[in-house]
Amino acid sequence: MLTDTRRPVIDANFESNIPGLYVIGDLGGAPVVKLAMAQGSQVADHIAAKPDARTAAASGDPNRYDLLVVGAGAAGLNAALGAQAHGLRVAVTEKNKIANTIEDFPEGKWIYAEPESVPAAGQLWLEGASKEDLLERWRKTVEQSRLDIRTGEGLVALKKVKGGFEVSTNQATYHTARVVLATGVRGNARELHVPGEERDTVFHRLYSPKHYRAEDILVVGGGNSAVEAALALSQQNQVTLSYRGPEFTRVFKDNRKKLKAAMEAGRIRVIFRSQVKRFDDGMAALEVEGAGVSTIKFHHAFVLIGADPPAEFLRSLGLRLEGDWTGSPLLASALVLITFLGIWLLGGKPPVAGHNAAGAALALAAFGSLVYSGVRGSRFAWLGVSFAIAYTIYSVKQAENFEFWPYRGWGARAFALFGRPWSFWYTVLYSLVMTVFGIQAAKRWGFDKGDRFQIWRYASLIGFQWLFFFLIPEFLFQWAVKYQWVGHKLATDPNFAGQAWRSYGIIYAWPLFFYTFFGGPSQVWIVWGAFLAFVIIPVLVLFHGKRYCSWICGCGGLAETLGDRWRHLAPKGKTSRRWESMNTVVLWAAVAVTILMLTRDAVTLFRKPADIGLEYYHLFADTWLVGILPVTLYPFFGGKVWCRYWCPLAKFMQILSGLYTRWGASRFAIHSNDKCIACGECSRNCQVGIDVMQFALKQEELNNANSSCIGCGICVTVCPMDVLTFSALPRSAAKLVQIESGDVGKLPENRDYEGYVFWL
Ligand SMILES: Cc1cc2nc3c(=O)[nH]c(=O)nc-3n(C[C@H](O)[C@H](O)[C@H](O)COP(=O)(O)OP(=O)(O)OC[C@H]3O[C@@H](n4cnc5c(N)ncnc54)[C@H](O)[C@@H]3O)c2cc1C
Ligand code: SF4
Ligand code: SF4
Repeated sequence: MLTDTRRPVIDANFESNIPGLYVIGDLGGAPVVKLAMAQGSQVADHIAAKPDARTAAASGDPNRYDLLVVGAGAAGLNAALGAQAHGLRVAVTEKNKIANTIEDFPEGKWIYAEPESVPAAGQLWLEGASKEDLLERWRKTVEQSRLDIRTGEGLVALKKVKGGFEVSTNQATYHTARVVLATGVRGNARELHVPGEERDTVFHRLYSPKHYRAEDILVVGGGNSAVEAALALSQQNQVTLSYRGPEFTRVFKDNRKKLKAAMEAGRIRVIFRSQVKRFDDGMAALEVEGAGVSTIKFHHAFVLIGADPPAEFLRSLGLRLEGDWTGSPLLASALVLITFLGIWLLGGKPPVAGHNAAGAALALAAFGSLVYSGVRGSRFAWLGVSFAIAYTIYSVKQAENFEFWPYRGWGARAFALFGRPWSFWYTVLYSLVMTVFGIQAAKRWGFDKGDRFQIWRYASLIGFQWLFFFLIPEFLFQWAVKYQWVGHKLATDPNFAGQAWRSYGIIYAWPLFFYTFFGGPSQVWIVWGAFLAFVIIPVLVLFHGKRYCSWICGCGGLAETLGDRWRHLAPKGKTSRRWESMNTVVLWAAVAVTILMLTRDAVTLFRKPADIGLEYYHLFADTWLVGILPVTLYPFFGGKVWCRYWCPLAKFMQILSGLYTRWGASRFAIHSNDKCIACGECSRNCQVGIDVMQFALKQEELNNANSSCIGCGICVTVCPMDVLTFSALPRSAAKLVQIESGDVGKLPENRDYEGYVFWL
C-alpha cells in the first residue's frame, strides 16, 4: 500500500515545474488504464503542436530525440505512439518489460475498462479483457508501429541542458528536447531490508501461482496482494502468511471470507504480529510478538508488502511535489510584517512627516517581494500572501474604530465604496467568488463528468449564497419592512425592522449563528431560531447526515468552490482526525456563551462573564477561526479547515448523525461494491480527509458514526470503477430490494436512488 501519494505539481498540459518535462498516467493522477491512455494521447497532441516539436531529425545526431518517453505502460506507450504518428523522433525507455505493471498482475486477471462513459483514446486497444488478451493486442500494436522501445533500461538521472535534456538510464545516455515521465507509481516493490532477501527463492511479486506445487510457501504482507497470493498458492501448497499487524484491516471483504475458509480448511496458517528477521537457505527466522524468534521452513517466499512511493526518486529529478514546503518561513514572516508596517505608515497616524508615501512604497516593495518569492518557488511566501489578503479582508470588516492593527481607525472608511460599507462589499465579493469558482467546480465535477448530483449541489450552494446571504440581508429584508410585506406589526417593530442582519439566522442555525437569541431580538427570530436548530436541522441530519455543510452553508460553500482546487491537500491520517475534536471545544464554548447570555439579565453574577465570553468568542471563533485562518490556509490544507476542525454546528450535526446511525435510524451512508482497485482517488479528493479507500476495500459502510463525512459525493464522482454509492433506503427497505433483486450482500448500484432519497 502506498503511503506517500503526493504527485508532482503539473499544469493543465501535464508539464511539471521543469519546462519540457511532462508527467502522465498513474504518476500524473490517472488512476486507471483508460485515463492513463487518454493522458498519453493528449500529451502527444500537445507536444506535437509546438512549433519546435520536430528538430531532432535536422540535427543529424542519431542519438538525439524530439521526445523521450520513460515507462512503457498504458500512458507512456500511447504517448509515444501518438507522438510518432505526429512525425516526432521518439524513443521509449522501460525499466523492465513492456507494460510491466499489467504483466505483473496474476495470470488471467481481468482488466476492467472503466470508466465506461469515456471512450478509449489513442492507438492502444482497450476493452474489458484478461490481462493476457490485452497484452497480446498491445504487443502487436507496438510491433506494427516499429516503435523504438529500449526495455531493461531504467531512468537514473535527468539533467536540463541547452536545447532540452540529457537523460541517463542504467545503459545509456540520450539527448532529447522533451521528456514524458510515465513511470507509474507501482514500479518499486517495497522490501523488508533483512539479510537473505536477495536469495533467488525470495520474490517481491507473484507472477504465476500455478508453477508452485506441494511446497512450503511463506507469504509476507497484510494487504490484498498478499492475501490473494496466499489464497492462490494454497490451492496446491501449504502456505504460511506472516503479517506484522494484529488483524487484516485493509483486505477486501470477499478476500477475508476466502481466507477464513482456507484457514479453517488448514490450507493457510496465519501468524499475526510477526516479522521476518532473516531468510536462510530454506528457513526463515520469524520474530513473533511476545513469543520470541522461531524458524519456519519454506521452499519459496513472497514478500508482498506494497510499493515504495516514488517521492524520493521524483525529487532527485528536480520535480516539485504537491504539498512540499519550500522557501524560508522567517523571510516570509518578515516580509508580511514589513508589508503591514508599510500599511500602518500609509493609513495610520504615526508622528512622522511624509509617512503616507513612505508607507505605500514600503508596503508595495515588501508585498511585491513576497509575491516574487512565491513565483520563484517559495511556498511559505504564498502562505504570507494568502495571510496578508485574508487578514486585511477580515480586519476592515469590523465596525469603524474596531478594525485590527494596522487598519484601526481608518480601514473601514478606506474600504467603503459608493456609500456602502466594506461589510456590504465583502458580501458582494464573497458571493461573486463563490459564483465564479462554483461554476468552475460544477464544470469539473458536474458537467465534464455528466454528474447531475454535483451540478445540483453547486447550484444549491450558489443559490443559497445569493438569496439568503446577500439579497435578503442587503435588500429584500429592507423592502419587506418598507412595503410591509411582513405585516404592519413587524414592519413597525424597531426590534425587528432595524435589525436586517438577523435575517442571516433564516439559514444559519445555532450554534453557528447564536446571535439570533441575544440582544433583544424580535420573538419571530427566537421562535424561528429554535425551530431551525432543534427541529429542521435534526430532521435534515436524519435523512442527509451533514449535507447542510456541502449543499447549504455559506462557509462550506466558499470551501467547496474557492477551496475546491486544493481539496486534495486536506490533511489525512490519524493525527489529523484527532485534531477534529477541537470542534467539541468550540461547541462547548458556544453552549456556555449562549447560556450566559440568556441568563445575564436574570443573574447579575453572569453579566460580566457573559460579556467577556461573547467578546472573546466573537474574536476567536467568529473572526480568526471562521475567517482569517481557514481562508489563509485554503491553498495549503484544502478548504475545510473551519468546517472540519472548528465549526460548532458541524459538531452538533455530527453528534446527531452519529447517534441516528448507532440507533439504526439514519438514512445516510456510503456503500461500496467489490470492484475497488485501490487507486486512492476517493481518499485523495475527500475534503475532510477521510480515507474512503479503506472503507471501499473492506466494503464497510461509511457513515457519521465512523467518519465526519459531509455527503459532498465527490468520492462517488471521482471513483473510476463506480465502486461507491450513497445509501438509498432505510436498511430494512434496502434489504428487501436486495432480496427481490436476488443480489443479497450488495447494495443496488444505482445512483438514481440518491435522488430519490434526497428529495424524500
Ligand atoms: C491490483 C491492481 C488492479 C488494477 N486493476 C485495474 C483494472 O482492472 N482496470 C484498470 O483500468 N486499471 C487497473 N489498475 C490500475 C492500472 O494498473 C494503472 O492505472 C495503469 O497501469 C497506469 O498506467 P501507467 O502507464 O501510468 O503506469 P504503469 O502501467 O505502472 O507503467 C509504468 C511503467 O514504467 C516503468 N518504469 C517504472 N520506473 C521506471 C524507470 N525508472 N525507468 C523506466 N521505466 C520505468 C514500469 O516498469 C512500467 O512498465 C489496477 C492496479 C492495481 C494495482
Ligand atoms: S467521504 Fe466522500 S462524500 Fe464524504 S466528505 Fe469525503 S468525499 Fe465527500
Ligand atoms: S473506491 Fe476509491 S480507491 Fe477504490 S477504485 Fe474507487 S476511487 Fe479508487
